Amino acid sequence: MHSQSDTPGDETVVVIGSGPAGAAAAVQLVNAGVKVTLLEAGLAGQARGLTARVGGLTVLRLHRPITTRTEGLTIAGDPSTILYEDIAPGGLTNHWSCAVPRFSADDFLDARRAGEAYTWPIDYPDLEPWYDRVEPLLQISGSRASAPQLPAGRIRDERSLGAEWRKIAAAAASEGQAVMPVPYVYGARTTVTRSGTVFNSFVRLVKPLMRTGRIDVRYGKQVTELQWSGAARRVTAVLARDRQTGADERIPCRAVVVAAGAVNTAKLLLQSTSGDFPDGLGNSHGVLGRYLHDHPIGKLVIDVNTPLAFTPAAYVTRLALDRTVPLFAASCLQWSGVHYFVRSLLQGHPGRLRSAGFSLFGTMAPAAENFVALDPTKRSSDGSPGVTLKISYPAQSVAALEAARDQMVHLLDRAQLEPKVSLWMIDPVGSAIHFAGSCRMHASPAFGMLDAWNRMHAVRNVIVADSAAFTTGSEKNPVLTAMALAARASERLVDDLRRGDI
Ligand SMILES: Cc1cc2nc3c(=O)[nH]c(=O)nc-3n(C[C@H](O)[C@H](O)[C@H](O)COP(=O)(O)OP(=O)(O)OC[C@H]3O[C@@H](n4cnc5c(N)ncnc54)[C@H](O)[C@@H]3O)c2cc1C
Repeated sequence: MHSQSDTPGDETVVVIGSGPAGAAAAVQLVNAGVKVTLLEAGLAGQARGLTARVGGLTVLRLHRPITTRTEGLTIAGDPSTILYEDIAPGGLTNHWSCAVPRFSADDFLDARRAGEAYTWPIDYPDLEPWYDRVEPLLQISGSRASAPQLPAGRIRDERSLGAEWRKIAAAAASEGQAVMPVPYVYGARTTVTRSGTVFNSFVRLVKPLMRTGRIDVRYGKQVTELQWSGAARRVTAVLARDRQTGADERIPCRAVVVAAGAVNTAKLLLQSTSGDFPDGLGNSHGVLGRYLHDHPIGKLVIDVNTPLAFTPAAYVTRLALDRTVPLFAASCLQWSGVHYFVRSLLQGHPGRLRSAGFSLFGTMAPAAENFVALDPTKRSSDGSPGVTLKISYPAQSVAALEAARDQMVHLLDRAQLEPKVSLWMIDPVGSAIHFAGSCRMHASPAFGMLDAWNRMHAVRNVIVADSAAFTTGSEKNPVLTAMALAARASERLVDDLRRGDI
């Protein structure tokens, strides 16, 4: 049996989750003078680990292994689908690789040319100042030059690719592509941090906020419901279950920022039913949970005749819009790291290898048929319903990955490196760990739950700040864009609260 108690504090904005999106929202809200309660389902101390870097090269990394979720999970689409998650302070940034490319103006244009269902309610210029705002928190290394498919960010440490990349970059440029260093968080820094990656959003962003005394962080609080008041026409409280004691608590609030990750955010909102919203909070048009998407990911290793540098790693952009079907493209991110360095030492050319490995991040046009839903026949550990994931990659995604692979080989061939593919594989659905789109932004509530400021169309005091909000997924890694959206939405929320619009 669960006990239930009320906590005073209805002036509070509740942030759910301390992954990068929740952390970015918390930073923005606290700096604006708002009283924040951050509810984190993970337990204190779970973000532990140790990472040491010298000049951007990781020399020590002690971390927990990442796990997949199986409990309470039904896979209804591609049976190979995997769901990685980490219910811990910092969420998946306990494990991430720290690549932070911006979306480009072309990414929004690509979505628009695919039709109304795919059109974002914002454009690149709306997001640009917010990239500028969050990037300094990330101490990014990369290039200060922009390409149409990869705008330069606020770079802390400028880096350029090894000389052998010049011919490849020239070949790419003549075909409307760019080859740049991958923008990486803390990518050239010497630093030690007590977490499993160089940037854990809880350790790097939330912990310093806690020292200001302006945020109340509560661990082990699994939020189970957002409580809608029909009389007040807003969410007035959240319900959270203590994972250690099982006690339920009702936490009154003025507004809520949901950032539990694309799957758990949709699940939580679907669980939040009421007379006004029997199908989930704000789900007036049946789109909550739909349009789930991920990055189809390919692994490619190519042998070459001349040793090629891997530090900094190269980012080969997607093909130009006029060479692709709308919403189907892929980028190539070169592999790098200390084990490659050791291999290169053993081969006698430090920092260079006669083969180059790449992760190819592809796209899929979001479809209403791919979704997150509740599965009432199963139970999750907190006693809430199980979850169903239905997602499979369309054939065009595989074609886009293969086209990017062939283009990579072609560019290396034009640079006279005699490329030979030694590994090519496409990983199971979910392997990119970039789920998104399950509570998307759209100008029309018929196509998306959120408006241009990440507020629910139907519930004005709830914003969804994580990648669930993405209208479409570009081929870029999602964290930076989720953080920029979260900060932007949070500033608007503060304005709404101050104006009394909520
Ligand atoms: C190995 C690996 C490499 C990656 N590399 C990159 C990369 O290079 N670049 C990139 O952009 N992305 C990368 N990613 C993906 C990236 O880590 C995720 O996209 C990102 O962390 C998602 O952020 P989020 O805040 O939406 O969710 P999460 O990071 O999942 O955080 C969600 C938070 O909410 C909490 N939570 C969940 N449910 C509840 C609830 N009901 N109540 C309270 N709290 C709750 C969780 O404990 C967690 O703290 C990688 C991921 C992995 C695993």
